[in-house]
Amino acid sequence: MAKEKKTKTAKEKPLLTDASLNFLKAYIDNPSPVGFESGGQKLWLEYLKPYIDTHFTDPYGTAVGVINPTETFKVVIEAHADEISWFVNYITDSGLIYLKRNGGVDHQVAPAKRVIIHGKKGPVKAVFGWPAIHTRFGGGDKENQPKVENLWLDCGGRTKKEVEALGIHVGAVVTYEDGFEELAHDYYIGRAFDNRIGGFMIAEVARLLHEHKKKLPFALYIVNAVQEEIGLRGAEMIARRIKPDVAIITDVTHDTQTPMINKMIEGDVACGKGPSLAYGPAIHNKLLHLVEDVAEKQKIAIQMRALSRSTGTDTDSFAYANDGCPSVLISIPLRYMHTPVEMLHKKDVEDTIKLMYETLLALSPKTNLSYFQ
Ligand SMILES: [Zn+2]
Repeated sequence: MAKEKKTKTAKEKPLLTDASLNFLKAYIDNPSPVGFESGGQKLWLEYLKPYIDTHFTDPYGTAVGVINPTETFKVVIEAHADEISWFVNYITDSGLIYLKRNGGVDHQVAPAKRVIIHGKKGPVKAVFGWPAIHTRFGGGDKENQPKVENLWLDCGGRTKKEVEALGIHVGAVVTYEDGFEELAHDYYIGRAFDNRIGGFMIAEVARLLHEHKKKLPFALYIVNAVQEEIGLRGAEMIARRIKPDVAIITDVTHDTQTPMINKMIEGDVACGKGPSLAYGPAIHNKLLHLVEDVAEKQKIAIQMRALSRSTGTDTDSFAYANDGCPSVLISIPLRYMHTPVEMLHKKDVEDTIKLMYETLLALSPKTNLSYFQ
């Protein structure tokens, strides 16, 4: 991508290349459970390396690519690398496996799902068992509802010994088998687009900067943080280490167009209508307005939301880290969050990448973010 001629045609080409989509598929299909993200992080770093000057990792596995590492003004673009999963908690004498949550995994969608147990001897296939419609009873007319305490995995082992012989142990993590697929009308489905789509998008921003030969007047830290799903912990750690001057966070947000969601509570956001920006105390107003101006200039449609108290994303960790860091959240709309069929629209992926990219080009160490000037 070095020749000028190619750069010109690159502008007309679709933003997502075949190579980037292949990476997205591989990245989504690769499990990255909370606390066990290193496999995904290695994949991500390999993809990112051609577009950065240097990289580092921290003790719990957060991975950071850096462009212009010698500049003193530091800007972060960030996503989280972890996905919700289950922990093996108890193995019965007859070989059934009971679980605990590792992050906010949804018990209601679990029955009859296929899973992978990540045991000491490698991946083991299993299923969430559930009594047949003919045989189940819950007392009277009421059917049993799936709950963490009545869900079990069946891996084929018929004794605890047989299960353990497969390398399955208390504390082994469990992920759904579902992977990336394309639907009609440019929709994608996959397990844990929350938030590996974010890791993908920040890597694409780095690729575009590299391919368009953009020179930024600051150090750019491309951060893929671990352990968001259990309390924004990876971001908390890495924000202290980097001490950024500005942070741009990306994560998923709810599309509110499907049944049983109340727009009066959840607001009005739709897949395919562009990235979502939010107001909230942790969101820096001047930085938010800068992003809104960029969207307007670049003709990128955006959707606004209001957040009460906290954002529930890594934005909070960055905003309140150190002495306070101006932070903004650029979210991508998503249907069916925390289920194995999370759904999003290709155009939103492209527009969210574009909005982050153009925001970086509009930022400089001289950007005035003071509330008092
Ligand atoms: Zn989540």
